[in-house]
Amino acid sequence: MAETEATLLRQFPLFLPQNRAKTVYEGFISAQGRDFHLRLLLPKDLQLRNARLLCSWQLKAVLNGYHHIVQQEVALKNKKEPYVLPPPPKFYSSLIGEIRALGWDKLVYVDPCFSPIKLKADVSGREHLITVKLKAKYPAESPDCVVDFPVPFSVSWTPQVTDQPKIDAKVVPLPSSLISIYSQFLAALESLKTFWDVMDEIDEKTWVLEPEKPTRSATARRIVLGNNISINIEVDPRHPTMLPECCFLGADHVVKPLGIRLSRNIHLWDPENSLLQNLKNVLEIDFPARAILEKSDFSMDCGICYAYQLDGAIPDQVCDNSQCGQSFHYICLYEWLRGLLTSRQSFNIMFGECPYCSKPITLKMSGRKA
Ligand SMILES: [Zn+2]
Ligand SMILES: [Zn+2]
Repeated sequence: MAETEATLLRQFPLFLPQNRAKTVYEGFISAQGRDFHLRLLLPKDLQLRNARLLCSWQLKAVLNGYHHIVQQEVALKNKKEPYVLPPPPKFYSSLIGEIRALGWDKLVYVDPCFSPIKLKADVSGREHLITVKLKAKYPAESPDCVVDFPVPFSVSWTPQVTDQPKIDAKVVPLPSSLISIYSQFLAALESLKTFWDVMDEIDEKTWVLEPEKPTRSATARRIVLGNNISINIEVDPRHPTMLPECCFLGADHVVKPLGIRLSRNIHLWDPENSLLQNLKNVLEIDFPARAILEKSDFSMDCGICYAYQLDGAIPDQVCDNSQCGQSFHYICLYEWLRGLLTSRQSFNIMFGECPYCSKPITLKMSGRKA
């Protein structure tokens, strides 16, 4: 019997090898009257001092304060990542205190190593998440925060100074913690509330073609206006009720009148109204709801490959013939026109026939690779 195996069996009888090579052990250890699950990964040479110890965060919390003892006694050291020192016990104790102060109900997820931590906030009926990636030197070092925002989010961080003599608390700003990150997160959510109200109304009351499942950071929407016609809007998250960047997609004879209406009615735009209401006012239209238009009435599929999505692209070329109005993927129409002997090219425009109605169709090639 190998020496390591014997040692393990003697000291931890509840530990059992999990594989033939005996590099993985799993079992339980008892501490404070509770059993904790533990996983031990040994290196190829089976030397205990190079082993990795994986345990639940509950156990880490219990071991908190005994870290140096665990290291000495079991001589476990993480040699795989020699440059990452395990965080000091204070790391865990201060974190648990911070989460408790914040409220455990805000905690969505915590890694066994306490990083990342996921927190949630409910604002105006919407749930938002923030992922906090703590560094080993936390709280001396600012953590990285990941959020689903349409604007950059950076936290201001006042590191905790522990080695310096205590100065009057009134002079020194309070050191940052999870709580201050969370309150900055809430403030940012509040400042973006109108933007999400605007986007939610669009997603709820119109037929959005793109993106299919908008994230909270998505500022663009492609909305159905009617048969084979849509509008792409790009909303400014800082000024969500102002006129967004608009781009119409569809046959010329339908798109042109819409553009004229937009510039004629622009004075009707009132930032006090919602963006959707303003769009209705200036375009003099009602947005069809998804349920009203039948799929057969509104075929957005490409007339060449019969698919909607093709390598992430959707059909954005439309036949101008009002009797036809068929849509195509750019790449499909490009390949089609290139294969026709009757097609011709002038500068960056390809002229040819629509594969559906045989009427003239054009394809602008500027700025796009085919
Ligand atoms: Zn296609
Ligand atoms: Zn056509």
